Amino acid sequence: MTAPVDPLATSSVNGSSASSSQFALPAATNQPVPLIDVGRQNGALAGELDAALRRVIEHGGYVLGPEVKTLEDDIAAYCGVEHAIGCASGSDALLLALMAADVGEGDEVLVPSYTFFATASAVMRVGARPVFVDIDPLTFNIDPAELERLTSERTRAIIPVHLFGQAAAMDEILDFAVTHELTVIEDAAQALGAEFRGQRVGSIGDIACFSFYPTKNLGGVGDGGMVTTRHTRLAERLRMLRVHGERTRYYHEVVGINSRLDTLQAAALCVKLPYLDRWSDERGARAARYQELFSKAGLDRVLGLPQAAAERRHVWNQYIVRVLDGRRDALRQHLGDRQIGTQIYYPRPLHLQECFASLGYVEGSLPLTERAAMETVALPIFPELTDEEQRRVVAEIAAFFAS
Ligand SMILES: *Cc1c(COP(=O)(O)O)cnc(C)c1O
Repeated sequence: MTAPVDPLATSSVNGSSASSSQFALPAATNQPVPLIDVGRQNGALAGELDAALRRVIEHGGYVLGPEVKTLEDDIAAYCGVEHAIGCASGSDALLLALMAADVGEGDEVLVPSYTFFATASAVMRVGARPVFVDIDPLTFNIDPAELERLTSERTRAIIPVHLFGQAAAMDEILDFAVTHELTVIEDAAQALGAEFRGQRVGSIGDIACFSFYPTKNLGGVGDGGMVTTRHTRLAERLRMLRVHGERTRYYHEVVGINSRLDTLQAAALCVKLPYLDRWSDERGARAARYQELFSKAGLDRVLGLPQAAAERRHVWNQYIVRVLDGRRDALRQHLGDRQIGTQIYYPRPLHLQECFASLGYVEGSLPLTERAAMETVALPIFPELTDEEQRRVVAEIAAFFAS
């Protein structure tokens, strides 16, 4: 274990070099700063969570109990969409969405490579082929200009990911999908509450997938997921597919899977959903504060800072900066030594993963994706992150670049 850095030592390092005086910014604390601390949020709600979980334990409807229906109705209303279907995880939500849309053997699905694994693994699991699309370097989301070139007569669907909490370019993606008759499956796992032109994600494409993994913006106390859709026929299929393809118990119309949202998780999520918009605003305030602190310290010349693109509500599931001088890994080491949590989302793009080698991608296939994987680092952001902690993160980064 490394001793926490002395904040005074940090400022004297800055002060010792005239050329780096613009980086001078005393750290306000020398406590560890976690990348995320879900305990602060859930701890503050412990009384409400305890009561909600105890009610489930007592009523006994552990599988698809009343809280699941309540959460489905609440999420549907929140997203402005007709149907919401709870399932076991965000990964299963993607799998169920593809199954409901009848994507399978011989089909191709357009997906980003710069995303969490499940976006593409779901495509493989239904027997279809992921076709990886490079990113818009500013938003990290699918570049719509690439779609035409990558579409064939086998292309059946597209999965835009609203990465890090910001909606993909849904206007261009929808236009393209209509022209080519593609099903649009939003991977909104990181983006509940994000908006594109005033419209909530989850209501924009044909189907959308959410995750309630504890570190998502609405996090459960374990795994959970949800699929939303405005199509009644798809909603009916999704409800069947999550219970082994049955409408009537033990009579199976199609081959489905077992993937249900636990009532206990739904109960916890019902407690938390009313706070979501406040938390999203608090995340946004912390992103704005980083922008201000980094600019003041002159660090916006060595760091590419994330921006909310026009006409979007960004909900900041992650705060991702680019390290422009090639020293990303050294910066991470520096911060780790000082007990500041960071992460790389994602260090190896999906098109270069071993399990997808048969698809034939090589280094250089998606240059902007590969560059992002080498340059970016996630810094601590969550609603309960304090101003002192943010100032410490920025001060330690300043100290790194001053050295
Ligand atoms: C978290 C995540 C998923 C998967 O959700 P799980 O609930 O962890 O299975 C899928 N896609 C993206 C973009 C994610 O961030």
